[in-house]
Amino acid sequence: MRDGPIRTFLKWFARSVKSFDLSVTRALLVRHGEQRYRLSGSCNSCGKCCETPTIPVGRAVWFVRTLRAIFLWWQRVVNGFELIDTDPRFKLFIFKCTHFDPVTKQCDSYESRPLMCRDYPYNLTFQAVPSLFPECSYVMHDKKAEGLRAALKKAGVEGEKLAELEKKLFLTKDPERARDE
Ligand code: SF4
Ligand code: SF4
Repeated sequence: MRDGPIRTFLKWFARSVKSFDLSVTRALLVRHGEQRYRLSGSCNSCGKCCETPTIPVGRAVWFVRTLRAIFLWWQRVVNGFELIDTDPRFKLFIFKCTHFDPVTKQCDSYESRPLMCRDYPYNLTFQAVPSLFPECSYVMHDKKAEGLRAALKKAGVEGEKLAELEKKLFLTKDPERARDE
């Protein structure tokens, strides 16, 4: 269901608070060299990242009933995310988004979408192993790709083996070579 003015305002407010927090955290991570990857390419609107939005949470939200209930209430009532599954191993809540049209692959409230939707897949540049959906047209590549590729070549790795490692280690910016066939 399309966002009305109240939900739009609440989402804008939450986004503004979280944006500030996130930009400070990210600036510190970049400063300490903890952003390992660069992102290139653009969105092809495949909609894959909207099919089952997934949110990792901390121990407090996962284990404290009241916090968990408030968190899930906010996701359902404000963000339009309905809980469909959980993954206790990684403390993940897995949702179905009521704004997503699986036929057109469009978001009915794109202008007021939450920060996590705006941040994907840039957020993956801070992960140890960034895993993009196969359908995603962005490409993730290691900031130290040139040096790593040179080291592999120096070690005698070439041909198919080199191509395989380039893919696995995120060493190429070429969208075709970065994906599994
Ligand atoms: S709010 Fe919009 S952008 Fe975010 S998951 Fe739902 S459909 Fe996708
Ligand atoms: S998975 Fe990637 S290409 Fe597809 S909609 Fe999401 S960001 Fe865009």
